[in-house]
Amino acid sequence: MSDTLDHTALKALLERPQLRRLLDVFNGDGEEMRIVGGAVRNALLGRPVTEVDCATTMLPDSMVKRANAAGFKSVPTGIDHGTITVIVDGEPFEVTTLREDVETDGRYAVVHFGRDFVLDAKRRDFTINALSLGLDGQLYDYTDGIADLSARRVRFIGDARTRIREDFLRIMRFFRFHAEYAQGDPDAEGLAASGAERQGMAILSKERIRHELLRLLVARRAEETLRILGDHGFLTWLLAGAAEFGRFSRIAAFDKDDPGATWRLAALAMMVEQDADRLREHLRLSNDEHKKLTTYARLLVILKTWPLPLDAIAIRRLVADHGVETLSVALAAIEGEPSPVVEKQAIEVLALYRSGAEAVPVFPLRGADLIARGIPKGPRVGEILAQARQAWLAEGCRTDEAYAKDLLERVSAQD
Ligand code: ATP
Ligand code: MG
Repeated sequence: MSDTLDHTALKALLERPQLRRLLDVFNGDGEEMRIVGGAVRNALLGRPVTEVDCATTMLPDSMVKRANAAGFKSVPTGIDHGTITVIVDGEPFEVTTLREDVETDGRYAVVHFGRDFVLDAKRRDFTINALSLGLDGQLYDYTDGIADLSARRVRFIGDARTRIREDFLRIMRFFRFHAEYAQGDPDAEGLAASGAERQGMAILSKERIRHELLRLLVARRAEETLRILGDHGFLTWLLAGAAEFGRFSRIAAFDKDDPGATWRLAALAMMVEQDADRLREHLRLSNDEHKKLTTYARLLVILKTWPLPLDAIAIRRLVADHGVETLSVALAAIEGEPSPVVEKQAIEVLALYRSGAEAVPVFPLRGADLIARGIPKGPRVGEILAQARQAWLAEGCRTDEAYAKDLLERVSAQD
């Protein structure tokens, strides 16, 4: 075929031993199973295939029976809507009965099970997500997905506005898949339809929006796509606040080999500490995510108001106090901004902490040390420890034993 796609990767996919066993078991006796969706798309693009979803003519109960008879473990992940997970030699596969949407309300679809691969393809969102691959290597394309994939174009199946009205989350998915897989501008019809139907997104759950937004943040063309979202009036609504593109762009360059959604969100949307509470509520962030955003914001304030140029000693103190990761992220986000001035030596020493060549200093005293010196157990221990920690930070975060002894002496003497 004369396209830009890697058709040999499909053959390699079918040669994966566990997948092969699954397909061998589920094809035959009047039933058919194919690989569908993302796995076919990614293989053709020469991208890694980490999850393989399959679709089958079989109904869930019969799938379970056939899986058991073959000695595969099965888990009824979403059996009501036709999905079970089949585990073959330790590898899980999501296996779903073919479906046809019958009723949609913008959020959920009432689906009926079917036996028709064409109808199953047509209820999917984008042409590049609707390809399927048979056991014999036959590639099925009912929606012109190959042409679009070849052109790196994300296009709705059917009329974009109609498809968006069935499920408004598809607006988010349009931008997310564009950011990850497309070249050039977004498909004009999809973009116009998304803009026109924008207000429909208000009925979506925060969890569903959060999922797509966080995936968009780590996509290959995240920055460009966020700018498009900004230009078309989506971004302020998505973040419930303003966006900092410069910082986002620097973080995206900084972590491009191992993108992290939470740090990218921090760089994009955190201006002051209070933003973390709003984002937690708006995007249903976990406590861990909220904490990361908060520490990032606190550190930003410290860095932006640091009275002197940041030098190696300041870096030592800051890594001891805030951790290497947060410090690296915050410094990367504000690199090139007028404040703070960062000495070359500071960057070099941070790199040593990052690589582990230099150990991050750890505060040397424990509550037990104070108690052993006669301070009674109770809240006072915590207070003295906190004071001692401040002194330790100010005095250069020394970790030698002599220093620790002296510090203990000083803080227990004052009590
Ligand atoms: P990824 O690698 O990002 O997971 P994927 O293609 O597997 O890509 P999923 O979000 O896991 O994407 O969805 C699996 C498939 O289900 C899609 O390829 C698409 O065919 C279909 N799909 C998922 N969500 C929708 C939706 N809201 N509307 C229509 N089809 C959808
Ligand atoms: Mg998937």
